Amino acid sequence: MIDNHGRKIDYLRLAITDKCNLRCFYCMPEDGISFKPKKELLSYEEIIRLMHLLASEGISKIRITGGEPFLRKDIMYLLSTLSKIQGIDQIAITTNGTLTEPYLDELVQLGIRSFNLSLDSIDPTRFAAITRRDSFTSVWKCYQSMINRGLQVKINCVVMDGQNIEDIIPMVELGKTDPVAVRFIEEMPFNGAGKSSDELTWNYVKIIQHIQHHFGNIVRLKDPANSTSMNFQVPGFTGSFGVIPAYSRTFCGTCNRIRLTPDGTLKTCLYDQGVFNVRDLIRAGATDAELITAVQNAIGHRAKDGFEAEQNRDPYNFVSESMATIGG
Ligand code: SAM
Ligand code: SF4
Repeated sequence: MIDNHGRKIDYLRLAITDKCNLRCFYCMPEDGISFKPKKELLSYEEIIRLMHLLASEGISKIRITGGEPFLRKDIMYLLSTLSKIQGIDQIAITTNGTLTEPYLDELVQLGIRSFNLSLDSIDPTRFAAITRRDSFTSVWKCYQSMINRGLQVKINCVVMDGQNIEDIIPMVELGKTDPVAVRFIEEMPFNGAGKSSDELTWNYVKIIQHIQHHFGNIVRLKDPANSTSMNFQVPGFTGSFGVIPAYSRTFCGTCNRIRLTPDGTLKTCLYDQGVFNVRDLIRAGATDAELITAVQNAIGHRAKDGFEAEQNRDPYNFVSESMATIGG
């Protein structure tokens, strides 16, 4: 699938639930969001049918996300079925790590070895303040289990003024011994609480300068194709670090991804308001050919970048949804 700007689309990010057991303040309000009832979620059967179709059209990588994906019942059934679909070469998972550790052996058996673990602080007190939950111990255990198993681990760390700036250097230092890629993410306004400030104090440039100032010498690494991160290494370190200009949106020119939200809304850009609802089409009895045509049509009308997608939203529908309904 090639979009109207010549970009090949081969990556789907699939949010399988909007529910979460943490309340990261940059993602959702303290009392949560209006979580979707189960009947409004794409069922596993619907997801599996769609994935067969999308794989036949060129989607080769899926990222399972949420909400917290390990809160969805029988997730191993879904993952096991997806892992057998012809054409899907890689399944990756984004998780907060609170419930994940007991599944690691089974996940490895399915060939799932690539994890983005959200960790905004390695200080238990700051972690609790950011996530509004006391779960640091289980998340840290999960991180260590992943590293000990030799899995591919990326840490997602949202950088927030006044919250976790003191964590930036210790996070980079994890890479002294651990083969981890720590990625510092610009905070976006997807907090489920309405638009926040247009000013981003800690943008990717400032984060890089802060790290460079501390370590003196940092080496720019070659970024993987379609990467959203700019990657670096401190000489002599095993791991690496990167910055994701998620708010500055410098990476849209090579964007290869689409998103499906838990209720089946297809998003062709993180910043759009959703293009159409695949679940509704399925439940209205659409044929396979009709589903494929609808997705191809959406891909043929993609915004050039996140700024255009945001501008194209309805005037009253400014960016305010929770990232838990999008998946990151
Ligand atoms: N619950 C899982 C987790 O936290 O890893 C998966 C879903 S979470 C929505 C996916 C990613 O989005 C996380 O790494 C999280 O840090 C990031 N995220 C959530 N809200 C964000 C925001 N407002 N700005 C930047 N990143 C955000
Ligand atoms: Fe939950 Fe992930 Fe959102 Fe935190 S970022 S509240 S862990 S969905």
